[in-house]
Amino acid sequence: MGKLLTVLRNISEVIAKVEDSGEVLTKIVKILARNLDVDVCSVYEYDKDSNQLILTATCGLNPDAVGRVMMPPGKGLTGICFKNKEIINIENPSKHPDYIFFGNTGEEKLNSYMGVPLATGGRVVGVLTLQRQKQEPFSPSIVDMARSLSPQMANLMLNAGMLRSLASSAEPKNLESSSKSSSIFKGVAVNPGVARGEVFKFKMRDWLNEAEHETHNDVKKELELFEKALARTRENTIKMETRALAMISEADASIFNAHLLFLEDKTILDEIKREISVESHSLEFSIALVFKRFEKKFLQLGDNTFRERLIDFKDVMLRLLESVKMLRNQLEDSSVIETKSKEWILAAHELMPSDLLRLPIDNLAGIVCEKGGVTSHVAILAKAFEIPALLGVTGIMNKVNNYDEIILDCHAEKVYINPPENIKAQFDDLLKASEAAETKIVEGPAMTADGIGIALRANISLICETSLLKKYGAEGIGLYRTEFLFMIRDYLPGEDIQYDVFSKVVSESNGDVTLRVLDVGGDKPLNFLNIPHEENPALGTRGIRLLMAYPDLLRTHLRAVLRAGRLGRIKILFPMISKLEEVYFVRAMLKEVEESLKREQIEYAADYRVGIMVEVPSVFIGLNKFIEHVDFVSVGTNDLLQYIFALERGNSAESVFACLSPVFLQIMADIGAIFRSRPEKGVSVCGEMAGNPLAVPLLIGAGIKDFSMPAKVIPLIKKTISAFSEKECRDLLQNALRMDSSDEVAAMQKNIFTAKGLIKPVEIIPGK
Ligand code: PEP
Ligand code: MG
Repeated sequence: MGKLLTVLRNISEVIAKVEDSGEVLTKIVKILARNLDVDVCSVYEYDKDSNQLILTATCGLNPDAVGRVMMPPGKGLTGICFKNKEIINIENPSKHPDYIFFGNTGEEKLNSYMGVPLATGGRVVGVLTLQRQKQEPFSPSIVDMARSLSPQMANLMLNAGMLRSLASSAEPKNLESSSKSSSIFKGVAVNPGVARGEVFKFKMRDWLNEAEHETHNDVKKELELFEKALARTRENTIKMETRALAMISEADASIFNAHLLFLEDKTILDEIKREISVESHSLEFSIALVFKRFEKKFLQLGDNTFRERLIDFKDVMLRLLESVKMLRNQLEDSSVIETKSKEWILAAHELMPSDLLRLPIDNLAGIVCEKGGVTSHVAILAKAFEIPALLGVTGIMNKVNNYDEIILDCHAEKVYINPPENIKAQFDDLLKASEAAETKIVEGPAMTADGIGIALRANISLICETSLLKKYGAEGIGLYRTEFLFMIRDYLPGEDIQYDVFSKVVSESNGDVTLRVLDVGGDKPLNFLNIPHEENPALGTRGIRLLMAYPDLLRTHLRAVLRAGRLGRIKILFPMISKLEEVYFVRAMLKEVEESLKREQIEYAADYRVGIMVEVPSVFIGLNKFIEHVDFVSVGTNDLLQYIFALERGNSAESVFACLSPVFLQIMADIGAIFRSRPEKGVSVCGEMAGNPLAVPLLIGAGIKDFSMPAKVIPLIKKTISAFSEKECRDLLQNALRMDSSDEVAAMQKNIFTAKGLIKPVEIIPGK
């Protein structure tokens, strides 16, 4: 990792210093040749128009070959690497049947070859090749490093290509924006939790729109200021990249490389300079003008990937403007928000990827933002920082003022501005309870009052969340939602990328890892799969149904899972199972994958367990049959509730109460009874019900002793459990089963919680 970071840093520095973006690749191959200790390092770029992979940069081959050596995808080792999107790592390449010899390159002396597909943005954009005289395949550490560099370099090439397209693109079209304001402040929660604080409206980011028409009378001075501002912005960008990389290894931290490329792009820089010298516009106004011009061009480009890069372009132009302002006014500190002494909530219309990396996050209690969704970079960073965040809160910026009081309830996905006293009082209880529970972390495993051990594990979706396991006392990972890794990308991550991420999660966990295979479709779309529109996606091609429709995707996915499993203890969990045939299918697929790994002599975990989610009623009804074919089940109460009650799962307030309904509790009691007679099989609950203190004693009463929940709520649940004996739990469940409604059950639970001096769980709805 240390060496990788050094290489990445070197690459970033090169991008920052080199004037012409065309030179960047040449510098990079030199850095790689030096750091990876190889004789030849080259990059082949795919040219769509000619359908050829063209040698674009090389260190070690004859420089005259650049631009002349080319091959179509599928031809020669490099063409095959590109077409199959797989690394090729062999000795004696010239003996390989697909080897093609190109004269005049100096290649004949080379006895080992590695080709690495360079992939990003849903596409392979070229191939990185490493060659050596030494006759032996490259070591796993070099393979790993080259693999990790692949998205970084591909991004770079993609952006260079995009800038070329921009330079030659036609006149812009007008585009309409359609954002409606609303007085109901609901959003999408990206982190569990409740927060209360004073609003700080993050407004600085309007600079590009607000820049006034200003002129100057000293071209030289203005151009000098421009150079200084560029240098300062490049420096900051490199720092941010290093920070992002250390925090969120799943996401391509190389987004900041794209920023550097923008800061080097001749077309953009020349246009700004032209505005200054020919039109006598001030530097600030010139930047804003050029930004707007390019923004229109971006939006006009048909390619989605390019359009999505607009946010990065905007981010970098804003930071450039900020540098100009700081330098012009001789301000030293680049931080735009002073550290707050009180808890504060950041409210913004839009947040840039860089904003959260620069904010003084001390006392930052929550984030509310009009734009952005669960897979945005801001969401990922909020998760990494453990800050409750509600995104997509349309219209809030028109309603809040600085210093307003806000309560952010990520469980119910609501924001309250200047809430009335009764709401404040309710939340005070809740806040105090969760603060107390969080700060008082009881060491050791969770236990009922009469000493029955209960396993509390964590639900995670990012590598960085593994650090929460120890912090909140989780016994391993009970639900690793792998879909995040796929959803934050706009391309299908290959086996090696998946393996990298899974192996980090597995090796950083302090216990078993229940890794749920990709659960997408329905409410979790994937940008790069063309899942046809369905009238009722919740009942459509989601979970296992989608995986069966894309067997290659599942095969690759399972290879990565089994390989990573070797680093710890894994349990593989299949989502949305509704028929036995699906279990047979995954069993057969696992066998096939194991055989192929064995054949290829690749190490993998052979001692994994196989489980299914119980989230479709048919599985509950046929549970006795299903468990004959699996090692364990995990009850996904979020979906099970949705399908049992025909209740949209997004309707969180309703489903919280539904989980306490006697009907649903009967289902849980029946599940518990089935497993009591099959102690060799495992049963756990991983839906939100497992993190609901009112529900957990009832689940224990049903015989369930294994729960998985957001790590943060573990201390609260642990404390709750310790206040009840197993017998009490069984009695409570029996009482609840005799009741008629969830309201009655909730009232019984609240009374007993009060009597035991536990928190008053007003509306505790721990979210994901
Ligand atoms: C569930 O459905 O309860 C569950 C845990 O899965 P998800 O919320 O990821 O659909
Ligand atoms: Mg589910």
